[in-house]
Amino acid sequence: MTETVQWMADGTPYSPRFGDRYHSEAAHALAQAQQVFLAGCGLPQAWAGQPQWRILETGFGFGLNFLVTWHAWQQDPARPALLHFVSTEAFPIAAADLLEQARKFPHLLPLAEELAAQWWGLLPGVHRLRLAGGQVLLSLLVGDSQTMLRQHELVADSIYLDGFSPARNPDMWSLHTLKAVARCARRGTRLATWTIAAQLRRDLAQCGFEVRKVPGVPPKRDNLQASFAPHWEPRKAPLWPMGAQALPARLAGGGGHAAIVGAGIAGAACARQLALRGWQVTVLDAASHPAAGASALPAGIFAPHTSSDDSLLSRITRAGQRCSLQCLQQLLQAGVDWEMTGVLERRQLGTPPDETAAHGDGPAVSARRSAHGRPPAWRDTLAAPAADWSDEASAACLEALGLPAGTPALWHPRGGWLRPAALVQALLDHPAIRFVGNAPVQALDALETAEGPPQWSLRDGQGQPWAQADLVVLCAGPQSASIRINGQSLAAAPALQTIRGQVSWGSYPAGQAPTVHPPVNGHGSWVPYFRHGQTGEAAWVMGSSFERGQSTLPPSADDAAAAHAGNWAKLQTLLPAGHRPDAQAFAQARHWAQLRCASADRLPLVGPLLPAQALQALPEGLASPWVATAMGSRGLTWALLCAELLAARLHTEPLPVANPLALALASDRYCK
Ligand code: SAM
Repeated sequence: MTETVQWMADGTPYSPRFGDRYHSEAAHALAQAQQVFLAGCGLPQAWAGQPQWRILETGFGFGLNFLVTWHAWQQDPARPALLHFVSTEAFPIAAADLLEQARKFPHLLPLAEELAAQWWGLLPGVHRLRLAGGQVLLSLLVGDSQTMLRQHELVADSIYLDGFSPARNPDMWSLHTLKAVARCARRGTRLATWTIAAQLRRDLAQCGFEVRKVPGVPPKRDNLQASFAPHWEPRKAPLWPMGAQALPARLAGGGGHAAIVGAGIAGAACARQLALRGWQVTVLDAASHPAAGASALPAGIFAPHTSSDDSLLSRITRAGQRCSLQCLQQLLQAGVDWEMTGVLERRQLGTPPDETAAHGDGPAVSARRSAHGRPPAWRDTLAAPAADWSDEASAACLEALGLPAGTPALWHPRGGWLRPAALVQALLDHPAIRFVGNAPVQALDALETAEGPPQWSLRDGQGQPWAQADLVVLCAGPQSASIRINGQSLAAAPALQTIRGQVSWGSYPAGQAPTVHPPVNGHGSWVPYFRHGQTGEAAWVMGSSFERGQSTLPPSADDAAAAHAGNWAKLQTLLPAGHRPDAQAFAQARHWAQLRCASADRLPLVGPLLPAQALQALPEGLASPWVATAMGSRGLTWALLCAELLAARLHTEPLPVANPLALALASDRYCK
């Protein structure tokens, strides 16, 4: 359920919860956003020529401050390559209200429409909305400001404080909230707000801000501006067990040369994220072409994992699914290389659909239920998806798939299928990215050069150098474990496991592909339709086997037959009847096998590979090699998110997920 907004006779939005208006009438609201907040923080001048700018706002509301800031960024030839806008909001409004308000500002409307298209599934937690082709990154911290800011790693260059009036919205202006805000400031961060309440001024000063009253924007006589200039050295407990590992100053703004080992989806996603931040990137792979390993899967599913306690895994996959979807929408042609068909998640047979209620919901699960109420009709969600998932698959969905009404299942309207190799190609298709094939990297050696700063040399087993780079990221799946750094094996190597996965796939006879074709997930994954190869022939894929510790390719005939039989058994359980190949057609299916890499706890590894003390043995100014691997069988759902997390950590950007999720993914847990 979204927040109730009342519209006053003069067209201003009003909050019955707080008994206050969100904004004054349109002209004043716009002037306030431009003059109190943007200009109050010295913008846009302050961000000119910077590689990135990070703004923190308390109280997203209608996003007017955000839209005005985004518009100013868009108009500015000296704009930073990345604009981060992090905003807290306890009670998100509906997309329709957001658009209603934006219609009063025609120059902002196209931006508001882009925002509204991503305004879905805003459950409590952190949501990263990627706008303007990924250059404007809005992180919505849905929840109470103080709580959310304590769980989020960010350094802000500018701060907008924008709650309702302190008398009606005291939490937003409390000393504890201001302390959480101040924790995000760096020396020199500028802050702006419209209220000059004496208590606020005292509290801001106590938090280390130098505060000044400035002439106000009508109807206010005065406004407040402040700069973070504490008389003490602010101390912040380090988040990462292996330290922040900030890039050397010469690389902090990008512009260096990065080498990525592995041209699968993880490597391609990291390459793209680094290219976006100004790096020249070389992607190396032992194979002659990109997506030759696990990313060569004919087609796969992207969908979130769900659990009754809304586990870390569920939350990470939810953030990952949003990230993957936004990337697919931006880079690939829908209906050809991917499709948002929705995904049906079959629950364990015998599990009642209200299992979550029986076991007691976590707060996010309860919020999710109340946020969406009854699931929208299945066919409607295909046309205009409204929820991020619904408790029950509707009867129409089940019927279309040939499943009996009442079959325990969840419906993920924003899931779908995709061809990973097409995504890898699209990610690598960037002027700053170069692919080098037939380059099996086995060793990274620190190299001191007479001409310039130290670099990493990337060599094969015979010592043949393939590349030299300021930064190396290992994304080589199972092969990552055998790479040596300065002659040492990786500390994380024992945690990396190889899992062989085999799928069965085939084409439909002409004209026999199903027209309604959402994938079905559960014990195994059934993709009833994708377009294969150059011809775009309609095909299906069923998988996968899960063969721990098996690294032989191709599999023996016996292993292949066993995996094929297993895939057939899983398909029969997932979809006992309905539109699917029969035993005879399945027997003629083609086989595909590849190796996946998973960590001991089944979550990816993202972060530096060397602890801080090992860095001391490196030439000064050389950064640790980093890693983004162990995507297991969920690479399509979380490789893109992991790449963004890696880039954010490297560049001290706001993280795309809350700290507990980032820590759960951190390589630090295996490399300390
Ligand atoms: N900045 C907004 C804009 O540009 O449209 C207007 C913000 S409105 C005045 C204040 C917002 O703060 C409301 O949307 C309200 O729901 C939110 N809010 C109030 N108390 C909060 C809290 N404790 N934590 C997070 N958000 C809160």
